[in-house]
Amino acid sequence: MQAAVLDGVGAKFEVREVELDSPKTGELLVKVAASGLCASDLNAVDGKRTLVPFPAVIGHEASGVVVEVGPDVSGFSVGDHVVMSIVPNCGVCDYCKSGRPNYCTTAGSAMSAGGLFDGTSRLSANGQRLNHFLTVASFAQYTVVPASGAVVIPIEMPLDRAALISCAVLTGYGAVMNTAKVEAGSRVAVFGCGGVGLNIVQGARIAGAKTIIAIDVTQEKLELAKKVGATHLINATTSDPISEVKKICGGVDYAFEALGRESTIQQAWGSVDVDGTLILVGLLKSGAKITIDASPFVNEQSIKGCYFGSSNLRLDVPALCKSYLSGELFLDELISERIGLSELNVAFDRLRKGEGARNVLVFE
Ligand SMILES: [Zn+2]
Ligand SMILES: [Zn+2]
Repeated sequence: MQAAVLDGVGAKFEVREVELDSPKTGELLVKVAASGLCASDLNAVDGKRTLVPFPAVIGHEASGVVVEVGPDVSGFSVGDHVVMSIVPNCGVCDYCKSGRPNYCTTAGSAMSAGGLFDGTSRLSANGQRLNHFLTVASFAQYTVVPASGAVVIPIEMPLDRAALISCAVLTGYGAVMNTAKVEAGSRVAVFGCGGVGLNIVQGARIAGAKTIIAIDVTQEKLELAKKVGATHLINATTSDPISEVKKICGGVDYAFEALGRESTIQQAWGSVDVDGTLILVGLLKSGAKITIDASPFVNEQSIKGCYFGSSNLRLDVPALCKSYLSGELFLDELISERIGLSELNVAFDRLRKGEGARNVLVFE
């Protein structure tokens, strides 16, 4: 099969013929239908975060069709449409047993090793091991994934749009619903309107937030934010976000930072009102430190981390598909380009420049 192989940080994707072994215990072989290009892929490419040993097949925001069900897997049949995610779980480690499967130790070790749950890889080229990115490795025609990270979706759900649910939507929508638990009538500000930020905006709309302020440096993304639910737009290249937010509503109950940058974290923190919360959704560079003004703590303002929108895969994915199919969740608007395997390098250049909402790799 063909896959886009990345040989190291800063390298270009090369489309190569690679081998993929059959699924082992607890695994599925999936024909990839679509894979969104997410900031986490870019972080691996650019080395902002150390996420996988190389050479590797990247890609993790994916959907596809089950081709083969490995041993000891229940709940999946050949032909099922699935989304695949970066939060598979073993069910038996301390985190899994304590109800925090998104922090599964087995999955974490597998990802660090670039393998699946037993540490080994199903991917190779000319006898040399290739690593799986975050157990998904979806910039390829086929992939083998842990079944616990996959969820069956309705057949009427379009697969390219379903791919977005697997990461950007679960993260953004989940940050609002699960991490922050935004109440109806709240004031919300969203710093950074890429794939995740736009889903924070629409999550806030669905949660019934009264004021939803979208902040970005590109007008194109701000217009998209308006389409999916923003009530106010701030272009940070021409105005100061903190004073603009204060002018609009005096400060927000929830500020979401979706870029993983110190400067926008400081702006987001400065826009929070008394008793409000800053939620850090964007991933910072490995080892990064941030400096923030300590005085708002006396106003009982708080800062909360967020991983994968505190999502519950089995509950949230079906609910989000239903929400899309009923016209509540907007996904069509979020796909800016559909590309093929050979266009990954150009599409990542666009992502690096902050252009467009979501580029999605699609297979015919
Ligand atoms: Zn992602
Ligand atoms: Zn576990």
